[in-house]
Amino acid sequence: MIPFQVTIIGSGSAIPSLHRAATSQLVHHNGSYLLIDCAEGTQLLLKKLKISPMRIDHILVSHLHGDHYFGLAGLINSLHLIGRIAPLHIYGPAQLFDIIDLQLKVAETSLRFPLIFKPLIPDGKHLVFEIRQLKIWSFPVKHRIPTWGFHLTEKMSETNLDEHSKESHNPFACEPSITQKGGAGLHKLNKMQFLSEKIEADVSPARSYAYCTDTAFCPDTASFIKGVDLLYHEATFMENLAKTAEATFHSTTKQAAEIARMSGAGKLIIGHFSSRYTDLDPLLEESRIIFQKTDLALDGMTFNIGDK
Ligand SMILES: [Zn+2]
Ligand SMILES: [Zn+2]
Repeated sequence: MIPFQVTIIGSGSAIPSLHRAATSQLVHHNGSYLLIDCAEGTQLLLKKLKISPMRIDHILVSHLHGDHYFGLAGLINSLHLIGRIAPLHIYGPAQLFDIIDLQLKVAETSLRFPLIFKPLIPDGKHLVFEIRQLKIWSFPVKHRIPTWGFHLTEKMSETNLDEHSKESHNPFACEPSITQKGGAGLHKLNKMQFLSEKIEADVSPARSYAYCTDTAFCPDTASFIKGVDLLYHEATFMENLAKTAEATFHSTTKQAAEIARMSGAGKLIIGHFSSRYTDLDPLLEESRIIFQKTDLALDGMTFNIGDK
């Protein structure tokens, strides 16, 4: 089975603690890496995890609270300093472009690499971008400011493709034109490499991952991510602080578990824990009352998507 994993870089909330960094995750799918949110300290934590930021080509930003993007300008600057030339794609709220642009302008930094920004669409579920065998979708969640969740779905396996589609993937049918724009011009991908990766992908079932933070309890979320294999949902508070959760547009453990149950998720990982909690076991136990297949998303942990 081709790798499809998420590594939790930070599982904390607004105030980072010694135990938990603020929110960021790295998704790896068959050699492609993408970052979801980029809190302060993310680039140092990537170093600690021995992951080169040069491998990241796509960054998704859920919303403009600092615990989700205050590390972005620093990461972009470091990539510039260490000589990146490959394009970097960023997807996030429309104002994010102006913020980054201003930070670069006042520092008189002219990046060596193209920074390609695409704003997220406010309503409904939308395809944000695709990479090889993965589609990345956005959908709105319920927070104090506009915020998006993300749904990452593998493209349909060969066995599910219709005859016409199969023909279009036949290596002998025609010469495929596979090109990609790079910083220094137009590069052709290695055709045979592409085809062999395609064949490898076809033997595994389509898997999916969903990322939902920050959000109040929002039943609509379940309809956007039906049948998801692995769901990351915030559980900032325990149930006895349900009123605080509601007032701050966050979720409790039981509400996260309820979304997992409603969406028919294979597995739930909870995170974005309030810094008031040092022992997380009570949060795990509370979530498991409603959804047994819950785990804690702790800093540095890697989860294989599709694992039962
Ligand atoms: Zn947050
Ligand atoms: Zn927030």
